[in-house]
Amino acid sequence: MFPRFSSRGLIVAALFILMTAACVRFDLAAHPVIVADAPATRTPQPQPTPVVWPTFSPRSTPMVFQVVNPAPAPAPACTFPVVVAGQHISADGDTEISESGAVGRMACQIKRDSCAFNRLVGKVDPSIIFKQEETGPYAVEDLLVHPAMVQPLTRLSKLVQAEWDGAVQLRVTDAYDSLLSHDPPESLPADRYSLHYEGRAADLTTWPVDTSLYPRLCALAVCAGFDWVHNEATHCHASIRAASLCQSCGN
Ligand SMILES: [Zn+2]
Repeated sequence: MFPRFSSRGLIVAALFILMTAACVRFDLAAHPVIVADAPATRTPQPQPTPVVWPTFSPRSTPMVFQVVNPAPAPAPACTFPVVVAGQHISADGDTEISESGAVGRMACQIKRDSCAFNRLVGKVDPSIIFKQEETGPYAVEDLLVHPAMVQPLTRLSKLVQAEWDGAVQLRVTDAYDSLLSHDPPESLPADRYSLHYEGRAADLTTWPVDTSLYPRLCALAVCAGFDWVHNEATHCHASIRAASLCQSCGN
């Protein structure tokens, strides 16, 4: 048996249902205010998902909630410890390991105009100062590096500018070196050993020169992707683990 309702009761019930429905209709066409910080870049962001909580309490205006995208995560801060003058350290924090232990031994001295020499790369980056103190055709050698060095150098330049609010630039005083000048001049050229000779090391300073910044500069170099750094007081020597170009040329 169905309960019996008077026609008046049915009308009241219908009105109640219509009024209740009106109270929970959400105007999703309205644009809520976005309160999160806009992303620094204009890369497309996924659209936020509107989330609404229906309520049967009578309201004078529709209630619309919107979950906005969280602010973009800032670049992770460089928390690598500073490297005091005279100290060297690998990217995994080993202060005892030698450079060759951390990034591999020099495989050969790359000679100018050799196969390996022609696989060095140079990226002219206006944000980086290249000292280029050598003369003649050797002046370009401060720009020449193993391809694996390009990205760490680019990252380091950005880190340096961010660290010191644009007041300091990264300077490269030496990179690839065909003149074998990283050994005592009295040593036999054939015995000279440095990762500069195959473009896997760079000597870095700040510009303007400020040696008090080099402990942090070396730490930033590790955060930028270098695998071993040595604060040599006058500069930060940074090197990278990568297959020698000598080997890729079959030397
Ligand atoms: Zn060096």
